[in-house]
Amino acid sequence: MIEDADIVVIGAGMSGLSFANWYRAKHPGARIVVLEAAAEPGGYCRTVAQDGFVWDYSGHFFHFKDPAIEAWLRERMPGQAVKTVEKQSFIRYAGRDIDFPFQKNIHQLPHAEFLECLVELYFRPSGDAPPRSFGEMLERRLGKAITAKFLRPYNEKLYATDLDTLDVDAMGRFFPHADIADIIANFRPGAKATSYNATFTYPEGGAVQYVNALLHDLPPGMVACDEPVVSIDLAAHTVTTPRRTIRFGHVISSAPLPALARMTGIAHDAAAFTSNKVLVWNLGFDRKGAAGVHWMYFPDRSLSFYRVGWYDNIFAGDRMSLYVELGAAHDATFDVDATRERVLADLAREGIVTTQRLISHHHVVLDPAYCHITQRSLAETARLRAELARQNVHSVGRYGGWTYCSIEDNLIETRALAAAI
Ligand SMILES: Cc1cc2nc3c(=O)[nH]c(=O)nc-3n(C[C@H](O)[C@H](O)[C@H](O)COP(=O)(O)OP(=O)(O)OC[C@H]3O[C@@H](n4cnc5c(N)ncnc54)[C@H](O)[C@@H]3O)c2cc1C
Repeated sequence: MIEDADIVVIGAGMSGLSFANWYRAKHPGARIVVLEAAAEPGGYCRTVAQDGFVWDYSGHFFHFKDPAIEAWLRERMPGQAVKTVEKQSFIRYAGRDIDFPFQKNIHQLPHAEFLECLVELYFRPSGDAPPRSFGEMLERRLGKAITAKFLRPYNEKLYATDLDTLDVDAMGRFFPHADIADIIANFRPGAKATSYNATFTYPEGGAVQYVNALLHDLPPGMVACDEPVVSIDLAAHTVTTPRRTIRFGHVISSAPLPALARMTGIAHDAAAFTSNKVLVWNLGFDRKGAAGVHWMYFPDRSLSFYRVGWYDNIFAGDRMSLYVELGAAHDATFDVDATRERVLADLAREGIVTTQRLISHHHVVLDPAYCHITQRSLAETARLRAELARQNVHSVGRYGGWTYCSIEDNLIETRALAAAI
Protein backbone atom coordinates (compact mmCIF):
# COMPACT_ATOMS: atom_id res chain seq x y z
CA MET A 1 0.00 0.00 0.00
CA ILE A 2 1.25 3.47 -0.83
CA GLU A 3 1.36 5.93 2.09
CA ASP A 4 0.67 9.64 1.68
CA ALA A 5 2.64 12.57 3.12
CA ASP A 6 2.50 16.29 2.50
CA ILE A 7 6.24 16.53 3.01
CA VAL A 8 8.95 13.88 2.72
CA VAL A 9 12.26 15.10 4.11
CA ILE A 10 15.37 13.20 3.01
CA GLY A 11 18.04 13.34 5.70
CA ALA A 12 17.83 14.09 9.43
CA GLY A 13 20.84 16.41 9.57
CA MET A 14 20.59 20.08 10.51
CA SER A 15 18.89 21.00 7.22
CA GLY A 16 16.26 18.26 7.18
CA LEU A 17 15.38 18.59 10.87
CA SER A 18 15.23 22.37 10.76
CA PHE A 19 12.91 22.27 7.74
CA ALA A 20 10.59 19.85 9.60
CA ASN A 21 10.46 22.29 12.54
CA TRP A 22 9.84 25.42 10.49
CA TYR A 23 7.19 23.77 8.30
CA ARG A 24 5.41 22.17 11.25
CA ALA A 25 5.26 25.50 13.08
CA LYS A 26 3.49 26.98 10.05
CA HIS A 27 1.30 23.98 9.24
CA PRO A 28 0.69 22.11 12.53
CA GLY A 29 -1.50 19.44 10.90
CA ALA A 30 0.87 18.63 8.02
CA ARG A 31 1.89 15.02 7.48
CA ILE A 32 5.68 15.14 7.56
CA VAL A 33 7.98 12.12 7.27
CA VAL A 34 11.74 12.46 7.78
CA LEU A 35 13.72 9.57 6.27
CA GLU A 36 17.31 9.10 7.40
CA ALA A 37 19.73 6.56 5.93
CA ALA A 38 21.96 6.40 9.03
CA ALA A 39 21.12 4.68 12.31
CA GLU A 40 20.75 8.01 14.13
CA PRO A 41 19.88 11.60 13.29
CA GLY A 42 22.37 14.47 13.10
CA GLY A 43 24.31 14.02 9.85
CA TYR A 44 27.69 15.74 10.14
CA CYS A 45 26.65 17.47 13.35
CA ARG A 46 26.90 14.30 15.42
CA THR A 47 29.00 13.88 18.56
CA VAL A 48 30.72 10.85 20.07
CA ALA A 49 31.14 10.41 23.85
CA GLN A 50 33.85 7.89 24.62
CA ASP A 51 35.97 7.20 27.71
CA GLY A 52 35.04 10.58 29.19
CA PHE A 53 35.91 12.49 26.00
CA VAL A 54 33.33 14.38 23.92
CA TRP A 55 34.18 14.60 20.22
CA ASP A 56 32.26 15.94 17.26
CA TYR A 57 32.42 14.29 13.86
CA SER A 58 34.76 17.16 13.16
CA GLY A 59 35.46 20.27 15.20
CA HIS A 60 32.19 22.20 14.99
CA PHE A 61 32.16 25.70 16.44
CA PHE A 62 29.42 28.22 16.15
CA HIS A 63 29.23 31.87 15.22
CA PHE A 64 25.54 32.73 15.01
CA LYS A 65 24.80 35.97 13.18
CA ASP A 66 21.06 35.89 13.84
CA PRO A 67 20.36 36.11 17.59
CA ALA A 68 16.79 34.87 17.03
CA ILE A 69 18.04 31.57 15.59
CA GLU A 70 20.52 31.06 18.40
CA ALA A 71 17.87 31.89 21.03
CA TRP A 72 15.39 29.50 19.37
CA LEU A 73 17.94 26.68 19.56
CA ARG A 74 18.98 27.49 23.13
CA GLU A 75 15.36 27.40 24.35
CA ARG A 76 15.31 23.78 23.21
CA MET A 77 18.54 22.81 25.03
CA PRO A 78 17.39 22.88 28.68
CA GLY A 79 20.20 22.37 31.19
CA GLN A 80 22.89 22.51 28.52
CA ALA A 81 25.84 24.81 29.28
CA VAL A 82 26.89 26.75 26.19
CA LYS A 83 30.19 28.50 26.53
CA THR A 84 31.22 31.63 24.66
CA VAL A 85 34.92 31.45 24.04
CA GLU A 86 37.43 33.98 22.76
CA LYS A 87 39.02 32.22 19.84
CA GLN A 88 42.73 31.40 19.98
CA SER A 89 43.84 30.12 16.62
CA PHE A 90 47.30 30.03 15.09
CA ILE A 91 49.21 28.96 12.03
CA ARG A 92 52.26 26.79 12.58
CA TYR A 93 54.71 28.19 10.06
CA ALA A 94 58.39 27.19 9.97
CA GLY A 95 58.38 26.39 13.68
CA ARG A 96 56.59 29.63 14.69
CA ASP A 97 53.01 30.17 15.74
CA ILE A 98 51.55 33.04 13.71
CA ASP A 99 48.16 34.51 14.58
CA PHE A 100 45.34 33.69 12.16
CA PRO A 101 44.70 34.97 9.52
CA PHE A 102 48.15 34.68 8.00
CA GLN A 103 47.67 37.58 5.58
CA LYS A 104 47.05 40.05 8.40
CA ASN A 105 49.96 38.84 10.51
CA ILE A 106 52.90 38.69 8.11
CA HIS A 107 54.80 41.01 10.48
CA GLN A 108 55.09 37.99 12.80
CA LEU A 109 57.16 36.10 10.18
CA PRO A 110 60.96 36.07 10.17
CA HIS A 111 62.12 39.52 8.98
CA ALA A 112 63.23 38.49 5.48
CA GLU A 113 59.98 36.64 4.83
CA PHE A 114 57.94 39.55 6.16
CA LEU A 115 59.67 41.88 3.68
CA GLU A 116 59.15 39.38 0.86
CA CYS A 117 55.41 39.17 1.62
CA LEU A 118 55.13 42.95 1.88
CA VAL A 119 56.99 43.62 -1.38
CA GLU A 120 54.97 40.97 -3.25
CA LEU A 121 51.76 42.37 -1.75
CA TYR A 122 52.61 45.83 -3.01
CA PHE A 123 53.64 44.54 -6.47
CA ARG A 124 50.84 41.97 -6.69
CA PRO A 125 49.88 41.00 -10.24
CA SER A 126 47.15 43.10 -11.73
CA GLY A 127 45.00 42.46 -14.75
CA ASP A 128 42.23 44.04 -16.74
CA ALA A 129 39.96 41.03 -16.63
CA PRO A 130 38.65 39.67 -13.31
CA PRO A 131 40.58 36.66 -11.91
CA ARG A 132 39.46 33.33 -13.37
CA SER A 133 40.12 31.04 -10.41
CA PHE A 134 40.43 30.97 -6.63
CA GLY A 135 44.22 30.56 -6.96
CA GLU A 136 44.51 33.54 -9.30
CA MET A 137 42.27 35.65 -7.03
CA LEU A 138 44.59 34.96 -4.07
CA GLU A 139 47.69 36.11 -5.95
CA ARG A 140 45.93 39.16 -7.38
CA ARG A 141 44.65 40.28 -3.98
CA LEU A 142 47.43 39.23 -1.63
CA GLY A 143 50.51 38.72 -3.77
CA LYS A 144 52.58 35.70 -4.67
CA ALA A 145 54.46 35.29 -1.39
CA ILE A 146 51.47 35.22 0.99
CA THR A 147 49.77 32.82 -1.41
CA ALA A 148 52.79 30.53 -1.77
CA LYS A 149 53.68 30.44 1.93
CA PHE A 150 50.23 29.76 3.37
CA LEU A 151 47.09 30.16 1.30
CA ARG A 152 47.96 27.75 -1.48
CA PRO A 153 49.61 24.90 0.48
CA TYR A 154 47.06 25.02 3.30
CA ASN A 155 44.00 25.11 1.05
CA GLU A 156 45.40 22.51 -1.35
CA LYS A 157 45.93 20.13 1.58
CA LEU A 158 42.37 20.77 2.69
CA TYR A 159 40.59 20.69 -0.69
CA ALA A 160 42.93 18.05 -2.16
CA THR A 161 42.79 19.85 -5.48
CA ASP A 162 44.58 22.54 -7.47
CA LEU A 163 43.19 25.94 -6.39
CA ASP A 164 43.36 27.09 -10.00
CA THR A 165 40.43 24.75 -10.78
CA LEU A 166 38.14 26.37 -8.18
CA ASP A 167 35.78 29.28 -8.68
CA VAL A 168 36.96 32.74 -7.54
CA ASP A 169 34.31 32.69 -4.82
CA ALA A 170 34.86 29.04 -3.80
CA MET A 171 34.94 29.88 -0.06
CA GLY A 172 32.36 32.67 -0.14
CA ARG A 173 32.24 34.71 3.06
CA PHE A 174 34.41 32.13 4.84
CA PHE A 175 37.55 33.47 3.18
CA PRO A 176 39.09 36.18 5.40
CA HIS A 177 39.62 38.93 2.83
CA ALA A 178 42.02 41.74 3.72
CA ASP A 179 43.29 44.66 1.69
CA ILE A 180 46.65 46.41 2.03
CA ALA A 181 45.22 48.96 4.48
CA ASP A 182 43.81 46.20 6.76
CA ILE A 183 47.10 44.35 6.65
CA ILE A 184 49.25 47.38 7.45
CA ALA A 185 46.84 48.62 10.13
CA ASN A 186 47.33 45.27 11.85
CA PHE A 187 51.08 45.96 12.20
CA ARG A 188 50.31 48.67 14.79
CA PRO A 189 51.25 47.77 18.35
CA GLY A 190 48.07 46.69 20.15
CA ALA A 191 46.21 45.94 16.89
CA LYS A 192 46.30 42.26 17.77
CA ALA A 193 44.01 42.88 20.74
CA THR A 194 41.34 44.51 18.60
CA SER A 195 41.49 41.86 15.88
CA TYR A 196 41.49 39.15 18.49
CA ASN A 197 38.06 39.48 20.00
CA ALA A 198 36.33 37.00 17.67
CA THR A 199 34.38 34.51 19.73
CA PHE A 200 32.65 31.21 19.15
CA THR A 201 30.08 29.27 21.13
CA TYR A 202 30.14 25.60 21.98
CA PRO A 203 27.75 23.40 23.98
CA GLU A 204 29.25 21.28 26.74
CA GLY A 205 27.64 18.15 25.28
CA GLY A 206 29.09 18.81 21.81
CA ALA A 207 27.58 19.89 18.49
CA VAL A 208 24.87 17.19 18.71
CA GLN A 209 23.09 19.38 21.27
CA TYR A 210 21.92 21.50 18.35
CA VAL A 211 20.56 18.35 16.71
CA ASN A 212 18.77 17.50 19.96
CA ALA A 213 17.31 21.02 19.99
CA LEU A 214 15.85 20.38 16.53
CA LEU A 215 14.41 17.03 17.68
CA HIS A 216 12.88 18.64 20.81
CA ASP A 217 9.52 19.66 19.30
CA LEU A 218 9.15 16.88 16.71
CA PRO A 219 6.68 14.12 17.57
CA PRO A 220 8.11 10.65 18.20
CA GLY A 221 8.03 8.57 15.05
CA MET A 222 8.34 11.49 12.64
CA VAL A 223 12.03 10.68 12.04
CA ALA A 224 12.64 7.21 10.60
CA CYS A 225 16.30 6.17 10.86
CA ASP A 226 17.96 3.32 8.97
CA GLU A 227 15.59 4.11 6.12
CA PRO A 228 17.39 5.40 3.02
CA VAL A 229 15.46 6.76 0.08
CA VAL A 230 16.52 4.63 -2.87
CA SER A 231 14.49 6.16 -5.68
CA ILE A 232 12.12 9.01 -6.48
CA ASP A 233 9.52 8.76 -9.21
CA LEU A 234 9.03 12.32 -10.41
CA ALA A 235 5.99 11.48 -12.54
CA ALA A 236 4.12 9.52 -9.85
CA HIS A 237 5.36 11.83 -7.03
CA THR A 238 6.54 8.91 -4.91
CA VAL A 239 9.67 8.09 -2.94
CA THR A 240 10.70 4.52 -2.29
CA THR A 241 12.73 3.11 0.59
CA PRO A 242 13.49 -0.55 1.35
CA ARG A 243 10.41 -0.48 3.64
CA ARG A 244 7.73 1.49 1.81
CA THR A 245 6.59 3.79 -0.96
CA ILE A 246 5.29 7.25 -0.02
CA ARG A 247 3.34 9.62 -2.26
CA PHE A 248 4.51 13.19 -1.56
CA GLY A 249 3.32 16.74 -1.95
CA HIS A 250 6.90 18.01 -1.71
CA VAL A 251 10.29 16.42 -1.14
CA ILE A 252 12.93 18.35 0.77
CA SER A 253 16.23 16.60 0.18
CA SER A 254 19.48 17.25 2.05
CA ALA A 255 21.24 14.33 0.34
CA PRO A 256 24.17 15.35 -1.85
CA LEU A 257 22.78 16.83 -5.08
CA PRO A 258 24.44 14.29 -7.43
CA ALA A 259 22.95 11.45 -5.31
CA LEU A 260 19.52 13.10 -5.49
CA ALA A 261 19.89 13.41 -9.27
CA ARG A 262 20.68 9.67 -9.48
CA MET A 263 17.67 8.82 -7.26
CA THR A 264 15.33 10.72 -9.58
CA GLY A 265 16.98 9.48 -12.79
CA ILE A 266 17.15 13.08 -14.05
CA ALA A 267 19.80 13.75 -16.72
CA HIS A 268 22.77 15.53 -15.16
CA ASP A 269 26.44 16.28 -15.56
CA ALA A 270 27.86 13.98 -12.85
CA ALA A 271 31.44 15.12 -13.52
CA ALA A 272 30.51 18.67 -12.41
CA PHE A 273 30.35 17.48 -8.80
CA THR A 274 33.77 16.88 -7.32
CA SER A 275 34.69 17.23 -3.67
CA ASN A 276 37.32 16.23 -1.14
CA LYS A 277 36.86 13.91 1.79
CA VAL A 278 38.14 14.50 5.31
CA LEU A 279 39.41 11.84 7.69
CA VAL A 280 38.98 13.04 11.26
CA TRP A 281 40.96 11.49 14.08
CA ASN A 282 39.62 12.21 17.56
CA LEU A 283 42.36 11.45 20.07
CA GLY A 284 42.17 11.31 23.88
CA PHE A 285 45.33 11.40 26.01
CA ASP A 286 46.04 10.68 29.66
CA ARG A 287 47.14 14.22 30.46
CA LYS A 288 47.01 17.81 29.40
CA GLY A 289 49.00 19.30 26.54
CA ALA A 290 49.32 22.90 25.40
CA ALA A 291 47.00 25.52 26.90
CA GLY A 292 45.85 28.74 25.22
CA VAL A 293 45.06 27.29 21.81
CA HIS A 294 41.75 26.13 20.31
CA TRP A 295 42.92 25.16 16.86
CA MET A 296 45.96 25.42 14.63
CA TYR A 297 46.49 25.38 10.85
CA PHE A 298 49.38 23.47 9.25
CA PRO A 299 50.39 24.51 5.69
CA ASP A 300 53.49 22.25 5.70
CA ARG A 301 52.81 19.73 2.95
CA SER A 302 55.05 17.14 4.63
CA LEU A 303 52.61 16.89 7.57
CA SER A 304 49.66 14.53 7.23
CA PHE A 305 47.08 16.91 8.74
CA TYR A 306 45.96 20.39 7.82
CA ARG A 307 44.30 21.32 11.12
CA VAL A 308 44.39 20.24 14.77
CA GLY A 309 41.99 21.38 17.51
CA TRP A 310 42.03 21.10 21.30
CA TYR A 311 38.62 20.38 22.86
CA ASP A 312 40.14 20.36 26.34
CA ASN A 313 40.97 24.05 26.06
CA ILE A 314 37.31 24.96 25.58
CA PHE A 315 36.01 23.48 28.83
CA ALA A 316 39.35 23.42 30.68
CA GLY A 317 39.66 19.65 30.68
CA ASP A 318 42.62 18.05 32.44
CA ARG A 319 43.36 15.56 29.60
CA MET A 320 44.35 16.55 26.08
CA SER A 321 41.47 15.89 23.67
CA LEU A 322 42.29 16.55 20.03
CA TYR A 323 40.63 16.46 16.66
CA VAL A 324 42.97 16.09 13.73
CA GLU A 325 41.78 16.63 10.15
CA LEU A 326 43.33 15.13 7.00
CA GLY A 327 42.11 16.12 3.53
CA ALA A 328 42.12 13.64 0.66
CA ALA A 329 40.84 13.25 -2.85
CA HIS A 330 37.34 11.79 -3.07
CA ASP A 331 38.65 8.54 -4.58
CA ALA A 332 41.62 8.13 -2.20
CA THR A 333 41.70 5.10 0.08
CA PHE A 334 42.88 5.27 3.68
CA ASP A 335 44.82 2.63 5.56
CA VAL A 336 43.20 3.81 8.78
CA ASP A 337 45.67 2.29 11.27
CA ALA A 338 48.62 3.59 9.25
CA THR A 339 47.18 7.12 9.20
CA ARG A 340 46.77 7.04 13.00
CA GLU A 341 50.44 6.10 13.46
CA ARG A 342 51.47 8.80 10.99
CA VAL A 343 49.30 11.39 12.74
CA LEU A 344 50.81 10.50 16.12
CA ALA A 345 54.32 10.77 14.68
CA ASP A 346 53.51 14.16 13.12
CA LEU A 347 51.95 15.40 16.38
CA ALA A 348 55.17 14.40 18.16
CA ARG A 349 57.26 16.14 15.47
CA GLU A 350 55.30 19.36 16.03
CA GLY A 351 55.67 19.08 19.82
CA ILE A 352 51.92 18.71 20.35
CA VAL A 353 52.27 15.25 21.88
CA THR A 354 55.27 14.98 24.18
CA THR A 355 54.92 12.63 27.15
CA GLN A 356 51.15 12.13 26.90
CA ARG A 357 49.86 8.62 26.28
CA LEU A 358 47.00 7.95 23.85
CA ILE A 359 44.18 6.27 25.78
CA SER A 360 41.18 6.59 23.48
CA HIS A 361 40.60 7.20 19.79
CA HIS A 362 37.84 7.42 17.22
CA HIS A 363 37.79 8.25 13.54
CA VAL A 364 35.24 9.19 10.93
CA VAL A 365 35.46 9.92 7.21
CA LEU A 366 33.31 12.82 5.95
CA ASP A 367 32.67 12.19 2.26
CA PRO A 368 31.89 14.58 0.69
CA ALA A 369 33.35 17.18 3.08
CA TYR A 370 34.25 20.31 1.06
CA CYS A 371 32.52 20.65 -2.31
CA HIS A 372 34.78 21.87 -5.12
CA ILE A 373 32.89 24.96 -6.18
CA THR A 374 33.66 25.56 -9.84
CA GLN A 375 31.96 27.44 -12.67
CA ARG A 376 30.70 24.07 -13.89
CA SER A 377 29.32 22.97 -10.49
CA LEU A 378 27.62 26.35 -9.96
CA ALA A 379 25.88 26.18 -13.34
CA GLU A 380 24.82 22.54 -12.97
CA THR A 381 23.66 23.04 -9.36
CA ALA A 382 21.47 26.00 -10.35
CA ARG A 383 20.03 24.16 -13.36
CA LEU A 384 19.28 20.93 -11.48
CA ARG A 385 17.80 22.61 -8.43
CA ALA A 386 15.48 24.72 -10.58
CA GLU A 387 14.38 21.72 -12.65
CA LEU A 388 13.73 19.57 -9.58
CA ALA A 389 11.92 22.39 -7.77
CA ARG A 390 9.48 22.59 -10.69
CA GLN A 391 8.57 18.99 -9.78
CA ASN A 392 8.24 19.82 -6.04
CA VAL A 393 11.63 18.33 -5.14
CA HIS A 394 13.74 20.88 -3.27
CA SER A 395 17.45 20.26 -2.78
CA VAL A 396 18.80 22.00 0.34
CA GLY A 397 21.69 22.05 2.77
CA ARG A 398 25.43 22.01 2.40
CA TYR A 399 25.46 19.09 -0.03
CA GLY A 400 22.02 19.56 -1.54
CA GLY A 401 23.15 23.06 -2.52
CA TRP A 402 26.72 21.84 -3.27
CA THR A 403 28.10 24.79 -1.34
CA TYR A 404 30.23 25.98 1.59
CA CYS A 405 28.11 26.96 4.58
CA SER A 406 27.56 26.77 8.33
CA ILE A 407 24.73 25.14 10.22
CA GLU A 408 23.18 28.56 10.79
CA ASP A 409 23.03 28.96 7.00
CA ASN A 410 21.23 25.61 6.85
CA LEU A 411 18.60 26.89 9.30
CA ILE A 412 18.16 30.19 7.48
CA GLU A 413 17.80 28.46 4.11
CA THR A 414 15.18 25.97 5.31
CA ARG A 415 13.24 28.68 7.18
CA ALA A 416 12.89 30.61 3.93
CA LEU A 417 11.88 27.48 2.01
CA ALA A 418 9.26 26.53 4.63
CA ALA A 419 7.80 30.01 4.32
CA ALA A 420 7.76 29.77 0.53
CA ILE A 421 6.07 26.38 0.11
C1 LIG B 1 35.09 19.37 8.30
C2 LIG B 1 33.85 20.21 8.53
C3 LIG B 1 33.83 21.14 9.56
C4 LIG B 1 32.69 21.93 9.77
N1 LIG B 1 32.69 22.84 10.78
C5 LIG B 1 31.60 23.61 11.01
C6 LIG B 1 31.56 24.54 12.08
O1 LIG B 1 32.54 24.67 12.83
N2 LIG B 1 30.43 25.28 12.27
C7 LIG B 1 29.34 25.14 11.46
O2 LIG B 1 28.34 25.84 11.69
N3 LIG B 1 29.34 24.27 10.43
C8 LIG B 1 30.43 23.50 10.18
N4 LIG B 1 30.44 22.61 9.15
C9 LIG B 1 29.25 22.54 8.27
C10 LIG B 1 28.14 21.70 8.87
O3 LIG B 1 28.63 20.41 9.20
C11 LIG B 1 27.04 21.55 7.83
O4 LIG B 1 26.61 22.82 7.40
C12 LIG B 1 25.84 20.78 8.35
O5 LIG B 1 26.15 19.72 9.22
C13 LIG B 1 25.13 20.25 7.11
O6 LIG B 1 23.89 19.70 7.48
P1 LIG B 1 22.97 19.09 6.35
O7 LIG B 1 21.77 18.61 7.04
O8 LIG B 1 22.83 20.04 5.23
O9 LIG B 1 23.81 17.86 5.75
P2 LIG B 1 24.28 16.50 6.45
O10 LIG B 1 24.76 16.72 7.81
O11 LIG B 1 25.18 15.86 5.44
O12 LIG B 1 22.92 15.68 6.56
C14 LIG B 1 22.35 15.02 5.46
C15 LIG B 1 21.70 13.76 5.97
O13 LIG B 1 21.07 13.11 4.86
C16 LIG B 1 21.23 11.71 5.02
N5 LIG B 1 21.05 11.09 3.70
C17 LIG B 1 21.85 11.17 2.61
N6 LIG B 1 21.32 10.44 1.60
C18 LIG B 1 20.16 9.91 2.05
C19 LIG B 1 19.16 9.08 1.47
N7 LIG B 1 19.24 8.63 0.20
N8 LIG B 1 18.09 8.72 2.23
C20 LIG B 1 17.96 9.16 3.50
N9 LIG B 1 18.91 9.95 4.12
C21 LIG B 1 19.98 10.32 3.38
C22 LIG B 1 22.64 11.58 5.57
O14 LIG B 1 22.82 10.33 6.21
C23 LIG B 1 22.68 12.75 6.54
O15 LIG B 1 22.28 12.39 7.84
C24 LIG B 1 31.56 21.79 8.91
C25 LIG B 1 31.59 20.83 7.90
C26 LIG B 1 32.71 20.05 7.70
C27 LIG B 1 32.71 19.02 6.59
